[in-house]
Amino acid sequence: MSQPDVDVVVVGGGPAGSCAAIVAARAGLSVVLLERGPFPGSKNMYGGVVYPRILDELIPNWWEEAPIQRWVTRRSTMMLTDTQALTVDFRSEAWGKPPYNGATAFRPDWDHWLAGYAEAAGAQLLTDTTVVGLIRDAKGAVVGVRTDRPDGDLTARVVIACDGVNSFLAKEAGLYEHADAKHFTLGVKETLSLPKEVIDERFAVRDRHGVDIEILGGTGKVNGGGFLYTGLDTLAVGVVLKLPKLAAQQQRPEQLVAGLKAHPAIAPLVQGAELKEYSAHLIPEAGLTMMPKMTTSGMLVAGDAAALCLAAGIWLEGVNFAMASGMYAGEAAVEAVHAGDVSENGLRGYQRRLSDTFVLKDHRKLRRAPELVLSDRVQHLYPGMIANVAERMFHVDNPHPKPGVRRILAQERKKAGVRRRDLLRDGWTGFRSFG
Ligand SMILES: Cc1cc2nc3c(=O)[nH]c(=O)nc-3n(C[C@H](O)[C@H](O)[C@H](O)COP(=O)(O)OP(=O)(O)OC[C@H]3O[C@@H](n4cnc5c(N)ncnc54)[C@H](O)[C@@H]3O)c2cc1C
Repeated sequence: MSQPDVDVVVVGGGPAGSCAAIVAARAGLSVVLLERGPFPGSKNMYGGVVYPRILDELIPNWWEEAPIQRWVTRRSTMMLTDTQALTVDFRSEAWGKPPYNGATAFRPDWDHWLAGYAEAAGAQLLTDTTVVGLIRDAKGAVVGVRTDRPDGDLTARVVIACDGVNSFLAKEAGLYEHADAKHFTLGVKETLSLPKEVIDERFAVRDRHGVDIEILGGTGKVNGGGFLYTGLDTLAVGVVLKLPKLAAQQQRPEQLVAGLKAHPAIAPLVQGAELKEYSAHLIPEAGLTMMPKMTTSGMLVAGDAAALCLAAGIWLEGVNFAMASGMYAGEAAVEAVHAGDVSENGLRGYQRRLSDTFVLKDHRKLRRAPELVLSDRVQHLYPGMIANVAERMFHVDNPHPKPGVRRILAQERKKAGVRRRDLLRDGWTGFRSFG
């Protein structure tokens, strides 16, 4: 091949793309970061909580300037039936101090901020530029991308595809065997505005402290879950819906969000808030089951493009997995370019880094979790059974004495139609995943 235009082309200015570009540019490679939107983050949405500790080395003391809304110091997991709510609520003052844990942030702010580091490191950011295809050499190796700009072909030693969920670049490279609708959920979110003092009071937080509520149930007949996060003077409330179940019934996603907002446990929290924005996006939900091959000659795939988002019930983490995989893709590209071997073998350092770190370790450990969490029993039988047990435990039914929890559990299991062996099997799967 004649001399390529640049060493590395990164496609997509989301968290994966910017981190890949920062690492490659800091190592002295010539890097172009392509983003289809008018600025990085302009087209991006998510629920609202980012876990940035992975940036500790890349951007020391990132918390001093990261564009965060609030530090998450309260984390709740809520289980809903139509009329009941059971919540495990945790709070920690330590999470409100450096080096922090999670934060709420707006994606346009976050992604724009992160891309600034890529530019500062020397990467050239080209916005309003959509990649429309791959360029390959005679042997089929990827040697660049085609863009929608006039004369927009760009050749590179390594292409890093960070183009998000349903990556057409990974598909064009033949890295996905098949895409199955059951592996995706649809996330829909409303951003609501509410004065800061009202949020502080309703959610029992102060200063820049905030709350992350993950919700099981509350999505009617559609398997999925919900979330409610606090921004400084906004709330993010939304649902995550299993696609085949959504298609099989009549309600539209916005009706399901309205249903969640009307739940007696949620309604007082969002009351009077004004709708600012509505957005929707797919989530690669199935983890290990759907991951593509992530390396081919001349190309690496990172972030949601490689289905690396971790969606495991009590955890919905995609941004940290995207930032980490982007960094590792950048490192592997640097290694391969310096060694003069950008073949699949030369780029194998990427897979090794993913395997040796939380990225694939968490996915392996939690490989059964997405299916379990979205299963009919966990979605439609267990919440009612567990909430009824709690209701009977806390209900004072004098003159009757307090009943034993084992008896209540046995009665409620039967009433819910849960077979003992299914309960044991799901409990064992849950224990192996989360234990
Ligand atoms: C409703 C919802 C709630 C979520 N909640 C959370 C949460 O609270 N916390 C969390 O950590 N994660 C959450 N996630 C997951 C998280 O949003 C993703 O895992 C994360 O954004 C992946 O980052 P990425 O860089 O891989 O991809 P993306 O953020 O999707 O970025 C891809 C980028 O590529 C650009 N692009 C795409 N195609 C092209 C092209 N052809 N040419 C040029 N540019 C292109 C896009 O414009 C975009 O900027 C949520 C997701 C959804 C949908």
